[in-house]
Amino acid sequence: MGIAMSSPLSAEVGTGTVTPPVIDIRHLVKIYSSGANKVHALRSVDLLVQRGEMVAIMGASGSGKSTLMNILGCLDVPTSGTYLLDGVHVEHLTRNELADLRNQKLGFVFQGFNLLARTSALDNVLLPLVYDRKRKRKRRGAQLQELAEAALRRVRLGDRLDHHPSQLSGGQQQRVAIARALVTEPQVLLADEPTGNLDTRTSIELMALFQELNAQGITIVLVTHEPDIAQYAKRIVEVRDGRIRRDRPVEGRRDAAADFTRLGADNMDDDDAGDAHAGDGHGVEVSAA
Ligand code: ADP
Ligand code: MG
Repeated sequence: MGIAMSSPLSAEVGTGTVTPPVIDIRHLVKIYSSGANKVHALRSVDLLVQRGEMVAIMGASGSGKSTLMNILGCLDVPTSGTYLLDGVHVEHLTRNELADLRNQKLGFVFQGFNLLARTSALDNVLLPLVYDRKRKRKRRGAQLQELAEAALRRVRLGDRLDHHPSQLSGGQQQRVAIARALVTEPQVLLADEPTGNLDTRTSIELMALFQELNAQGITIVLVTHEPDIAQYAKRIVEVRDGRIRRDRPVEGRRDAAADFTRLGADNMDDDDAGDAHAGDGHGVEVSAA
């Protein structure tokens, strides 16, 4: 023998830079207890996500997808196991540190959009900046407003700044929510059934936006139970009964922008009305606020 085995760390030395996975989850367990009842929502989940990936998490209702997303999003903490977000051990952080980390690294998009109703698109998108203690110290109001406008332009809503959610279609509301998630320039965008309340055409349009953002370098993890939607991701992770059952790259990944253009040509007289279907057959879920 005599020759030391190379450790996982030394393997990275040769490359000069060490880029940890942006998400590194090991042996993650989540047990909800209400009284005597215990629900094992996650039973030892391991998940590594590298920078630049676009992952679709699939699974039946109740399989633990939202529980996993809420932990990934630092909205909830695991019962046991470890979570490193961009190399930082999340479980050792205080509430404030966790909030700062979430604000710096993550953007979250929900099925139900979760916009403030009597508030303009611009003010909805400004909100995370107002709560961002570090950024606020450095920037003035006008600069914050410019960042929010830029985020809305990025989702092609630069002409809807003053519109309230009720004046926007479902697809537009979800794009405001994405702008709100983007305004802090996160590394990772987490989306829990972002197309769950949208019709097929609007869903594909939204997936084109996600693919575009991913191509710009943002890591995306999204939950969907629609196989067609998952085909726009680069990788599909299947969850069942709180465990990852399958994890595979997407072969023949689809181009959502091309699909959307094709659909548009087939349905020239399709209008925007009825964009949002709350009861679209997807079932209504309560997402964490
Ligand atoms: P999915 O998003 O895949 O539908 P969830 O993560 O929401 O699944 O739920 C996984 C399991 O955990 C389900 O059995 C669900 O009833 C349970 N569960 C989810 N949230 C809670 C909670 N806050 N309290 C108790 N049980 C919960
Ligand atoms: Mg869910």
